[in-house]
Amino acid sequence: MGDQATATDSTASSSSSGIVGARIDQLLGRADPATTDPVSFRLQQYELGLAWVHFPEGFGGLGLPPSLQREVDERLWSAGAKPHGLFEFFGLAMAGPTVVTHGSDEIRHRLLPRLFTGEDSWCQLFSEPGAGSDLAGLSTRAVRDGDEWVISGQKVWNTLAHVSDRAMLVARSDPEAPKHKGLTYFALDMHAVGVDVRPLRQMTGEAEFNEVYLTDVRVPDTDRVGGIGDGWRVAMSTLMNERTSIGGSGAPVRGSGPIAEAVRIWSEEAGPRTAVQLDRLMRLWIEAEVLRLTNLRAGSNRRAGNPGPEGSIAKLQFAEVNKAIYDLCADLLGAGALVDYDYTLRRSEHLGLVGPPGSARKMFLRSRANSIEGGTSEIQRNILGERVLGLPGDVRTDKDLPWSKVPRN
Ligand SMILES: Cc1cc2nc3c(=O)[nH]c(=O)nc-3n(C[C@H](O)[C@H](O)[C@H](O)COP(=O)(O)OP(=O)(O)OC[C@H]3O[C@@H](n4cnc5c(N)ncnc54)[C@H](O)[C@@H]3O)c2cc1C
Repeated sequence: MGDQATATDSTASSSSSGIVGARIDQLLGRADPATTDPVSFRLQQYELGLAWVHFPEGFGGLGLPPSLQREVDERLWSAGAKPHGLFEFFGLAMAGPTVVTHGSDEIRHRLLPRLFTGEDSWCQLFSEPGAGSDLAGLSTRAVRDGDEWVISGQKVWNTLAHVSDRAMLVARSDPEAPKHKGLTYFALDMHAVGVDVRPLRQMTGEAEFNEVYLTDVRVPDTDRVGGIGDGWRVAMSTLMNERTSIGGSGAPVRGSGPIAEAVRIWSEEAGPRTAVQLDRLMRLWIEAEVLRLTNLRAGSNRRAGNPGPEGSIAKLQFAEVNKAIYDLCADLLGAGALVDYDYTLRRSEHLGLVGPPGSARKMFLRSRANSIEGGTSEIQRNILGERVLGLPGDVRTDKDLPWSKVPRN
């Protein structure tokens, strides 16, 4: 029986791979990625179901296992296709899976192709001054007015909002419902009247993120994603994709990413090196490799489109290992870690989650945010404890109260 199941699985997977291979041939037969404009090439890729192979047919996918996407990407890149940049992270890794899972067919057809081609860039308007870890406590109001919603409130820490066309926005549509139940999710047009984006500077000197003020912004109901009052469930899809993607953004091949930078500094830039530092380097190399293998295994186990709470394993480990690696880099550089770095205010147009070789001075500062962005390490531990290990839950006294009755300061 086991042998039969394995044989059936492997036949199914080779036929899926055959379908994908034939579509790639068809795409490359139609357009040369090295010479075709990336927007036009990506639109054809989307239409052939090769944008996200695990999405449904007609919406950029083929309904096949997500592990086959690697085959698509590798063949297209080696033929000269331009890879998406980290700038497109929010759209590709978070908004796309959320819209395809919860959006109407109309909104999927309208938003997904432009998202995949890169014509629309996306940001995330979730956090507020009074709602970060406790996202469900947010205050931004959405009031229905005919076929539109009028939205007002303040969002904060919104990465790349200053260069975005659309935003994933969660707002409170029913203050009398318990906090998780009165939320609604929108795909906000960032160019709408009443959207005011202001820079927030990080300790790297860069203003990668922003605060966003929404004043009576009129949003058509057709830009709602999911049901009225269903915003928490929709937001969970975004957050689970975010955690998994942040966790997986480190090192594509063994010894690459931040640990490669530590090894380079050890051999090329470090002053006097100690046996204790060598021990730290070796331990971190092993931890980085365990993280990479964990991500590979999670990727191949993932059959349906949206990841589960186990995505928090990678997010937690990514944050902790990254910070420890850049701590070591700073120690190896000694006083040199503090010089030759430009702290002047810059408006970044790139997501600074990972840094290129030679960027350890900046990444030492930037990596401090890894255990905060996308949900803090404490929150990841809570998720793993409760939803993966089945341990007793955090104390939540306001869970069943109407949001309007929850004490706030
Ligand atoms: C670089 C960066 C980029 C970001 N980008 C975005 C973005 O694009 N869009 C967006 O919406 N947000 C973004 N954020 C915001 C981020 O999601 C929040 O900062 C994060 O969720 C924490 O919320 P908070 O800052 O309000 O801290 P708080 O929730 O106030 O937490 C303060 C401290 O208390 C701990 N804590 C809180 N609750 C618990 C609990 N129940 N159990 C144990 N410990 C707890 C936390 O772990 C933390 O240490 C970004 C943040 C950073 C640093």
